[in-house]
Amino acid sequence: MKLFAHVNAYSVDETIKLLAKYEGTAKLNAGGTDLLGVLKNRILPNYPEVIINIKSIPGLNTIEEDEEGINIGTLTTLADIIASPVIEKNYSLLKEAAGTVASPQIRNIATIGGNLCQDTRCWYYRYPDEVGGMIKCFRKGGKTCPAVSGENQYHAIMGAKKCFAVCPSDTAIALIALGATLTIAGAEGTRTLPVEEFYTPLGSVLNSGEMIAAIYIPKPSSVAGQRFLKFTLRKPIDFAIVSVASIITHDQGVCFDARIVLGAVAPTPVRALKAEEFLKGKELSEEIAAEAAGLAMAEAKPLSKNAYKLEIAKTLVKRLVMGLT
Ligand SMILES: Cc1cc2nc3c(=O)[nH]c(=O)nc-3n(C[C@H](O)[C@H](O)[C@H](O)COP(=O)(O)OP(=O)(O)OC[C@H]3O[C@@H](n4cnc5c(N)ncnc54)[C@H](O)[C@@H]3O)c2cc1C
Ligand code: SF4
Repeated sequence: MKLFAHVNAYSVDETIKLLAKYEGTAKLNAGGTDLLGVLKNRILPNYPEVIINIKSIPGLNTIEEDEEGINIGTLTTLADIIASPVIEKNYSLLKEAAGTVASPQIRNIATIGGNLCQDTRCWYYRYPDEVGGMIKCFRKGGKTCPAVSGENQYHAIMGAKKCFAVCPSDTAIALIALGATLTIAGAEGTRTLPVEEFYTPLGSVLNSGEMIAAIYIPKPSSVAGQRFLKFTLRKPIDFAIVSVASIITHDQGVCFDARIVLGAVAPTPVRALKAEEFLKGKELSEEIAAEAAGLAMAEAKPLSKNAYKLEIAKTLVKRLVMGLT
């Protein structure tokens, strides 16, 4: 690890001032479960000069419910989300997704804000600097993506143009299905943004002077069925090959509203809008579920070694729709 300065922040305002003071050379540290590995392996093209510890900010780890929804502080750990009776009762999709992340030890430390902002897991991007030098791919300011003609079995099968790394966050797709919004603090004050609009092909819309302060989830209808499915190669501790989150509302087997979000298939989480539209008004059956799954993946264009992900994604969407009939 290279040397860096370490500063404790004690409020969101102070964090924003520190980010402005260090002008793009600082990184926030929440649980550190992703950041410390990134620093240790020196994978960033610009090594941070300052680490701002935000765990020292009081009051950002609370889950507060009112009649309209819940507000989750960015420092709330995944373990606290899983243990929350409020989340279990009305927002079980988020509990399910958080429960599949990493291991109990990591979930005890990892925060929800950090899970949303974690860096990509592409193995070319993560290649340690000390083993033969950093791979300067497109995402690091280079001119090529070695995954396109290389080992691309875990990469994107849709929605990618230059970088084919997938968004690894499991909680992101649950929050998008739930219609959650972020409270983002910056030099100009705070802004709210749907989680659905947070991700970009090379990361997120967050600029170097901003941080996520909280996540708000509107209360879903009590008759909406919430489900999360994830396919991994290893059962304990593994990132998704494909994950799917959905909220489907139906009356006596007829769907009247659906939100379906796919993870690990593209650089950003993907709303299956065509499948959602198709399901509305349909009586849910195996045939309808299979058709919805086909529509969800209609725009997929797998790379040389990852066509298998397409079949897994279709199967998960189909199971998810059928599981709610
Ligand atoms: C072995 C292992 C297995 C894993 N498996 C999974 C998995 O299956 N599914 C999954 O989704 N994740 C998985 N992860 C990733 C893990 O969930 C993340 O490391 C963790 O959630 C990050 O949270 P943190 O609080 O530790 O973030 P940190 O490591 O502290 O930060 C991560 C990044 O987010 C930034 N950041 C943190 N908080 C904020 C904020 N409030 N505002 C702006 N930026 C912020 C930091 O600057 C840093 O760039 C795995 C990680 C490991 C090590
Ligand atoms: S997929 Fe993206 S992160 Fe991975 S090597 Fe290609 S450009 Fe780099």
